[in-house]
Amino acid sequence: MKIKDVLGAVRGRLDSAGIEEAWLEAELLLRHALCLGSVGLFLEHDEELGPSQVKLISLLVDRRVSGEPVAYITGKREFYGREFHVNPHVLIPRPETEHLVEKALEIVSLIKYPVVADIGTGSGAIAVSLAAEVPDARVFAVDISDPAIDTARLNARRQGVESSITFLYGDLAEPLPGPVDVLIANLPYVNSADCVASPEPQLALDGGIGGLDAIERLCNSLEGKLRLGGWVLLEIGQGQAETVQRLLREALPDARVGTIKDLAGIDRVVWGQTG
Ligand code: GLN
Repeated sequence: MKIKDVLGAVRGRLDSAGIEEAWLEAELLLRHALCLGSVGLFLEHDEELGPSQVKLISLLVDRRVSGEPVAYITGKREFYGREFHVNPHVLIPRPETEHLVEKALEIVSLIKYPVVADIGTGSGAIAVSLAAEVPDARVFAVDISDPAIDTARLNARRQGVESSITFLYGDLAEPLPGPVDVLIANLPYVNSADCVASPEPQLALDGGIGGLDAIERLCNSLEGKLRLGGWVLLEIGQGQAETVQRLLREALPDARVGTIKDLAGIDRVVWGQTG
């Protein structure tokens, strides 16, 4: 079978399984199976595949159709222009989380030798992106999952920023050795009931009944963790902005507080700057 015919067949299978981005995902699975880049796949459209290659692709498609995310199958996902290794111990980085990185970059561009903390770093997508974009930054990456820290460290090494990042094991901001300029967190914020069937780690998604347990605990533990004029940037879910702004105002009574929308127009980040 030619690559283009296999691609068509895979798209068809993914499509009939109700997978939204069937075209993109079919390409990602074929590129992974055949070790090709996107241009390579296109250039080799008329190449014949052997039966073992077709079989391998079909096994990957079986995994996808049975609910495994394509990023776990291929072991990678792009975030803020870089490729990150991902596995089922970590949340798959989402495009909307890039808003956190953008806001953090805007803030640290005004600070010399900024100190940044990424709380609940997971794959390290935020910490590694910031360390790579801001060479004079010192970054703390905290997680309560050992395999997540291993994954983040691997990503830091691959991007050549391991020496800028200190990895800390522990609960939320507790392990930070001192106050930081910017504290960023994409904590779990999904309602317990809505994430039981997810293939991604519950530890990264489950925010309890109401979804805000982890965010609330973080807000209540900010004392001594921020420098004067320091910032907190929190990713949130749909409909949570008002409550999280209130939590931040209660935790930091002198802070300015605001929100940032994602590309879908949903409030996605709540920020606070201490006075
Ligand atoms: N954005 C993810 C989702 O909606 C949730 C990520 C999180 O809980 N931090 O599935």
